[in-house]
Amino acid sequence: DTIVPYKDSEESKKNQVANMFDSIAHRYDFLNRFLSAGIDVRWRKQAISYLKDIHPQKILDVATGTADVALMTEKILKPANIIGIDISDGMLDIGRKKIEAAGVQTVIQLYNGDSAAIQYSDNSFDAVTVAFGVRNFQQLEKGLSEIRRVLRPGGKLVVLEFSRPKTPLVKGFYNFYMKAISPNIGKLFSKNKEAYKYLDESIQKFPEGKDFLNILEKVGFTQTINKPLSLGICSIYCGTK
Ligand code: SAM
Repeated sequence: DTIVPYKDSEESKKNQVANMFDSIAHRYDFLNRFLSAGIDVRWRKQAISYLKDIHPQKILDVATGTADVALMTEKILKPANIIGIDISDGMLDIGRKKIEAAGVQTVIQLYNGDSAAIQYSDNSFDAVTVAFGVRNFQQLEKGLSEIRRVLRPGGKLVVLEFSRPKTPLVKGFYNFYMKAISPNIGKLFSKNKEAYKYLDESIQKFPEGKDFLNILEKVGFTQTINKPLSLGICSIYCGTK
């Protein structure tokens, strides 16, 4: 069966993305830490800190995966409730186990849900987080409009996503790492080299910096911010409804 997403119909791309994450779910957290040498934890903390100013009580974590951001948000911001949604049941199962182990089931709940049709009513959340998720959305603008719809007026979106480093030397190392090293380590531990090739390809294609801010503004977000991290390998974006 095919596990690498390709553009066919939106529905089949969605299923392929979900299958791909189901297939690597058991190794996902380990490979994140390993491939990023633990820096991903710092990136997630930095992204969450952009929500401190609004003291959010109800938070939606879209493309929550194994719930790393939801769990970290619970620790840092102590909100009343965090809902995580994702299209991969394999990733959600691991997330639920981590939530139980941390004893925070009353605060964080995970559900199967698609960014293109979020199952909550308008103005339901004070904040929305998406870490390494927007790049995988089958319909980027639809997903961002849905996020804006479920945010309350004044509510804030924080996106964390890979971007492409600009400095020539860093760029050279980065490309070597992403094309030659990461797919092989991915293959070794998750038995799915294609998924880690997809990671590089999807980063190369994805709008970044001002281009991503333009899309946020197009769907109606205001007060947009772009903060590159770690020499531009990763970026934080914020927008307000
Ligand atoms: N946010 C988590 C983190 O920071 O580790 C997981 C990120 S993982 C790279 C991307 C996740 O996006 C996968 O779990 C995948 O199933 C999910 N995803 C992809 N398309 C989605 C969509 N349309 N709606 C919701 N989740 C989606």
